[in-house]
Amino acid sequence: MATVVPISKSPLPCSTQSPWSSSLSFWTPKKAANFVAWTTKVALPLALLFKGLQRRATMRHCRSRTSPAYGSIPNPRTLYDFLGVDHRADTSTIRKAYLAKQKMVHPDVAGDNAQEVSMLLNSAFDVLRDPEKRSAYDASLHIDPHVEDDDDDGPTWPWTAKERRGEKVIYKGRPRSRSLWERVPDEDRGDRWEQQKFLFIDELKCISCWNCVECAPKSICMDADHVRARVYAQWGNSEDDLEWAVKSCPVECISWVSRQELQVLEHVTAEHMNSMGCVRHRPFTKPTHLPHLAEKWVERRRRDSEMARKRMALASKHFNVTMEQFQQQLRSAMLKLPPDLRQAAFS
Ligand code: SF4
Repeated sequence: MATVVPISKSPLPCSTQSPWSSSLSFWTPKKAANFVAWTTKVALPLALLFKGLQRRATMRHCRSRTSPAYGSIPNPRTLYDFLGVDHRADTSTIRKAYLAKQKMVHPDVAGDNAQEVSMLLNSAFDVLRDPEKRSAYDASLHIDPHVEDDDDDGPTWPWTAKERRGEKVIYKGRPRSRSLWERVPDEDRGDRWEQQKFLFIDELKCISCWNCVECAPKSICMDADHVRARVYAQWGNSEDDLEWAVKSCPVECISWVSRQELQVLEHVTAEHMNSMGCVRHRPFTKPTHLPHLAEKWVERRRRDSEMARKRMALASKHFNVTMEQFQQQLRSAMLKLPPDLRQAAFS
């Protein structure tokens, strides 16, 4: 008798049956209709909403990277702010600040995006390194024009090293000799000290007799180049010693002067001596009256400053206009800079 093999309803054995077969059996037409309705009413709007929020966040992020608020774009109001220096800074400080910034934003280092800022840095430095342009610019800002001079009129002043021989003598608004006025002991003071008087030697009249040097060696020396007596330290000796030095001069070329007179006379003397070069052991061929030279120098300086003031008044109007354009250019140039560099260079 033949064995009857039961015939399975499934066309395939259980191990090879499709996994979808059970899930397909789950989807009845009603369930499928419900799923489509749920998808269109809930899931799809939620997905769209999420996608929209995501896109808006991305756009906001991208916009913020190019917006002025991103990285807080510096907005310097003056050229001094732009270079990051005080308006009283001297030229060497301004130069250092300029070079430091230029090292960061030069197109060779920072690329083409920094070219405009680099050019504006050049323009700013060009104005601030030129005394006349700088004074005109200061006038346009209504701040006191920068002066390299020290116009303090007190009996003591900061002492600086002398220029080297042959260099142009520059007037710095203070005497070339140093002052020990405040260090004079009480017992060595007198009327001249009270009146804040100082010694000046007319080197053009000096005959190098050494009398004054012997009387006041801590105040007067013999200049090595010209072999003429010169006061190198005011009030290095007592008032009695200084008075004795004045009286010991056979040609009466030592006198008591005020600080204002002293700084002009010493400057004019230095200018004159510098123009003559080294005259060791050689008499001056043309005797010159130093006080007369000083008067002429003061008059020339007054005329020069008056002309400079007029030029500044004209130039300051020009700067008022150009600064507005400069600030606009600067703003657009700053926007092109990478934010990190902008922060590093101008924060
Ligand atoms: S005393 Fe008069 S002449 Fe003699 S070295 Fe002094 S300044 Fe010159």
